[in-house]
Amino acid sequence: MEVPQIRNISLDLWLQIKKRPLLISGPCSAESREQLIATGEALANTGLVSVFRAGIWKPRTRSHSFEGHGEKAFSWVKEVKEKTGIPVAVEVARPSHVELCLKHEIDILWIGARSVANPFSIQELAEALAGTNIPVMIKNPVNPDLQLWIGALERINQAGINKLAAIHRGFNTWGKSQYRNPPLWEIPIELKRLFPELPIICDPSHICGNRSMIEKVAQHALDLDMDGLMIESHIKPEKALSDKNQQISPSKLAKIINKLQIKKASSFKKETTENLEELRKQIDLADYKILEALAERMNVVKSIGYLKKNNKITILQIERWNNIIHKREEAGLKLGLNKEFLNELLKLIHKEAINVQKQILNDNS
Ligand code: PEP
Ligand code: MN
Repeated sequence: MEVPQIRNISLDLWLQIKKRPLLISGPCSAESREQLIATGEALANTGLVSVFRAGIWKPRTRSHSFEGHGEKAFSWVKEVKEKTGIPVAVEVARPSHVELCLKHEIDILWIGARSVANPFSIQELAEALAGTNIPVMIKNPVNPDLQLWIGALERINQAGINKLAAIHRGFNTWGKSQYRNPPLWEIPIELKRLFPELPIICDPSHICGNRSMIEKVAQHALDLDMDGLMIESHIKPEKALSDKNQQISPSKLAKIINKLQIKKASSFKKETTENLEELRKQIDLADYKILEALAERMNVVKSIGYLKKNNKITILQIERWNNIIHKREEAGLKLGLNKEFLNELLKLIHKEAINVQKQILNDNS
């Protein structure tokens, strides 16, 4: 596997403005001078916001939707910055957007989920960004593809940008969900494991698509030790021209942020550290037992594989598989395990068992 490369990540410069968690807020789109300034001033009054966001060009799914005011909106953004002293962030999707943002002294850029899904767009943006070293935040692509997200971070980093952050905004999936873009937390967790120094900011607004779940998702992001939050806010959310259902007023934002519990990644109290270490030893032992049990099971799977091969029996016998699912779920539920978790785990084990037996049946040596 190719080793991902993202070098010399340094967000120091722009994270110096941070309080941890870094809070980025502002409307989905810059709609008018009045809307932008009223929102910016109300956010500044909360004393909680480190970066003001506003979309100037909006990537809309349908062509007749409000697509932003374009260049005209820069003077409004600038006025917010002058009045509040808060640095400003704008989404860029094309090289011309980068040029205009630099010309109008925008402090931070972000690349949206739809652009990140397209390596051609990212490459063009990387070329436009070369030699600037402006901070850039990169949203996850709309599809749940970690390599595509890493690829975009890599391309922008290779253009010499080292003030980088990732924004987790959830993923488009087919079918019904309580979320607009289900978070699939395991993807940002894997990104964090691969690039521990890369700050990850969670965007609960685009994950939820509604106001009511923002607090819960923001708390979960902090519990996963994410470095910041990007939450859309609007002086009159019910009048918003884009993403109306998910924007919140600056006062609601303050209420949510003040309720969030900020936990530490590690505790410095000796007793807590010792307790944690002891419990982790127990986890390590339990994990080894699981591994041994899995290896034992796979060995039996192999023996069955040879038996099936010698007697020309199919790998899959659906009644047996059905029976396993039901019996194991029942047993697991009695032990206090979660039904969906059991189901996923059994399917994974079964998939591997089929792979192992397939190799045995196909081996003609
Ligand atoms: C936005 O931040 O308003 C936006 C368009 O988000 P995304 O790229 O996550 O859809
Ligand atoms: Mn939006």
